[in-house]
Amino acid sequence: MKTKKCTNCNESKPATIEFFVSRKGTKSGIRNQCKDCKNKKLNKSRQKNPERRRELDRINYENNKDRIKKYIADYRASKPDYEKIKYKRKKDLITKSYVASSMRRRVSELDDRIYETQKLIIKIKRELNKTESWKEEN
Ligand SMILES: [Zn+2]
Repeated sequence: MKTKKCTNCNESKPATIEFFVSRKGTKSGIRNQCKDCKNKKLNKSRQKNPERRRELDRINYENNKDRIKKYIADYRASKPDYEKIKYKRKKDLITKSYVASSMRRRVSELDDRIYETQKLIIKIKRELNKTESWKEEN
């Protein structure tokens, strides 16, 4: 099998689009950097400047909508249990972050109720004081 050396990590990998990002219009049809390096670079830029990266992702999506949608549809079709995996992932999420966020929501609702109750207590105390001083005066 024909291999290609990644210009970034210098590792030789099979010269296929499985290991290298495809690039139309070149002789080999693939980029000089392997997918691992490309993904690492992307992750780094995501961490460094998430907003800028999101914006670039959005622009890329707008420009390649049909291609991306087709890619996702093909990917799903190639994995018959994709929905099952997605569902399982969802279930895992429910047990962790979902519970955490719903707890946080409840705590903040509770905070609101505590605040309202404290306001009410202050109001009642004020009324009581008024009544007390009225009693003393009369
Ligand atoms: Zn590489």
